[in-house]
Amino acid sequence: MKKYNFNAGPSILPREVIEQTAAACLDFDNSGLSLMEISHRAKNFQPVVDEAVALFKELLDIPEGYSVIFLGGGASLEFCMIPFNFLEKKAAYLNTGVWATKAEKEAKAFGEVVEVASSADKNFTYIPKNYEIPADADYFHITTNNTIYGTEIREDIDSPVPLIADMSSDIFSRPVDVSKYTMIYGGAQKNLAMAGLTFVIVKDEALGKVTRHIPTMLDYRTHVKKGSMFNTPPVVPIYSALMNLRYMKAHGGVEAMAKIAKERADILYAEIDRNSLFVGTAEKDSRSYMNITFVLKDEYKELEKDFLDFATSKGMVGVKGHRDVGGFRASCYNAMSVEGVQALVACMQEFEAAHK
Ligand SMILES: *Cc1c(COP(=O)(O)O)cnc(C)c1O
Repeated sequence: MKKYNFNAGPSILPREVIEQTAAACLDFDNSGLSLMEISHRAKNFQPVVDEAVALFKELLDIPEGYSVIFLGGGASLEFCMIPFNFLEKKAAYLNTGVWATKAEKEAKAFGEVVEVASSADKNFTYIPKNYEIPADADYFHITTNNTIYGTEIREDIDSPVPLIADMSSDIFSRPVDVSKYTMIYGGAQKNLAMAGLTFVIVKDEALGKVTRHIPTMLDYRTHVKKGSMFNTPPVVPIYSALMNLRYMKAHGGVEAMAKIAKERADILYAEIDRNSLFVGTAEKDSRSYMNITFVLKDEYKELEKDFLDFATSKGMVGVKGHRDVGGFRASCYNAMSVEGVQALVACMQEFEAAHK
């Protein structure tokens, strides 16, 4: 049976990206050696990093004056590296979920933190609006896509202070005006690559402004200066990222990814709104194109396990919602086909016909 992978992360990747990475793990670049056993300083590996950086810049139209670096440690390590590198006195955070809360918590150890707004009052089902960003903050941190709650900030907001965004789960899903950001970062395992890789896009001139001592490994300048080769970077994940960057370029780039993302989301949200058993959890104007969350209406709540079992029997994988939201979550990253979403919609309709 064909499986449709709706996992939230690590998550679906294009089949050819997986095959190409697997092939390189057996024989990298006709060297007779595995990608797993070569030096990161091997002559034929440097071009992998160089091309990945170049494709990042090309696909996201990154202006001059920004560096792209590849690190380990996940988005979670960035939560502490950001205040280490940018927080002198005061930072502003928008609290839109668990990840945003974790980022904010780390900053509190470094200085004053202003939470400009929070949607915790309604279990993060919406993106707050009409908040004020303090003009004297060193930076303003946002989480553009809230993977757990299915909410998303899909436009590049104006900020009077340097803007820093966690784009772990929506990077490469739409064109981004990088010039509006001082830094964009994320774990690669949602929409870019296999697990084990963190990407950082950072404005060079914003670095080196804090007065504190920064440990070498936590100083972005170390990695910018050494082109992600200060220490051993995650070699195989970087290779998988390159394969996916090539794939995205060959398939129309981020404009094409955005078009399919909207198509998928429109189909699934239309069914959630039509189907008499289900209801979406995120407020309509905050809905994510990447993680689509829904639950059974109160009168059908006891059918939750039945629907999961039914969907699983039809080949759906990973549609169980996060424990903080419950119900269901269909993560629809770039590699998810429209056909996959249609298969899930067919499940929902069949289930409705059997239970209405
Ligand atoms: C998954 C996720 C994280 C955590 O990423 P790690 O790489 O596991 O540290 C952070 N932020 C967002 C928005 C996420 O979706």
